[in-house]
Amino acid sequence: MIQDISPYTFDNRFDPIQPADESPVIICYKQRILCKCNEECVSLPTAEETETIWGVRKEDLHFLFRIDETAFFLCDRDLPTCDDWHWEHPLAVRGKDPNWLSFAAAVGAHLAHWYETSRFCGRCGHANIHSESARAMVCPSCGNITFPRINPIVIVAVLDGDRMLVARYNRKHFDPRNSQYVLLAGYVEIGESYEDTVRREIREETGLEVRNIRYTGSQPWPFSQTTIAGYYAEADSRLPLKMQKEELSELLWVSREDLPPRKNLTSMTDNLIEWFRHGQESCFRYIDAPKADI
Ligand SMILES: [Zn+2]
Repeated sequence: MIQDISPYTFDNRFDPIQPADESPVIICYKQRILCKCNEECVSLPTAEETETIWGVRKEDLHFLFRIDETAFFLCDRDLPTCDDWHWEHPLAVRGKDPNWLSFAAAVGAHLAHWYETSRFCGRCGHANIHSESARAMVCPSCGNITFPRINPIVIVAVLDGDRMLVARYNRKHFDPRNSQYVLLAGYVEIGESYEDTVRREIREETGLEVRNIRYTGSQPWPFSQTTIAGYYAEADSRLPLKMQKEELSELLWVSREDLPPRKNLTSMTDNLIEWFRHGQESCFRYIDAPKADI
């Protein structure tokens, strides 16, 4: 998945330092990243290049996080394109080489989005300032602290024996970068457990009741400012489907051998489909099993 960047390690301790000349800078404005990006690779400017090309001083950059010993910094300004440096959507860098740098760019873009939308206090409306002791924004007027916002989502692969329920989004929700089958997904609402969300989303989108829920893992998905929990669940494929037409244009049961292979394994959806294609779904434990069986 995108967070699997071994042998490198993502380190999000908030331990700010000043940028060095060679420190990578994520220039991000309105969910676009100023980078060099082609079919295979992505590169980011250094702090020295950011100063030389665009005149942004090192002291105006914000510390973000580290990967191993390399500290990354944010520049949140709308700067002109130059030579091979172009504005790209964060999804354009997904899966590019080196994988640790494309992951850093995506996480930086998520943080940039949060800083950009947290400039004012939600309680009193005063302008926030960057906290010096935590990854947070602080209101100097009323003391309100705003921490980074991450929205939880569940993604569910509904199974019945050797068949998996897959979908396509309708035009309104269609992402032209993703024409493949999708799995059913939804935001966790306030007051719900993740498993409640699994049951509710599948009921709302398909009309089916699920059982035998299995948790498979989680991943950051900075492109939509979310964190994703992946599940398998079972339902009766003989029952009629009541597709939610607001979001979906197609909903169908596909047999294991007819599922198209995924091109890469960066997302939870890719992995849920590939594990099932290879018969590995039984490796995950039921979370709603009777206590005596645990
Ligand atoms: Zn305030």
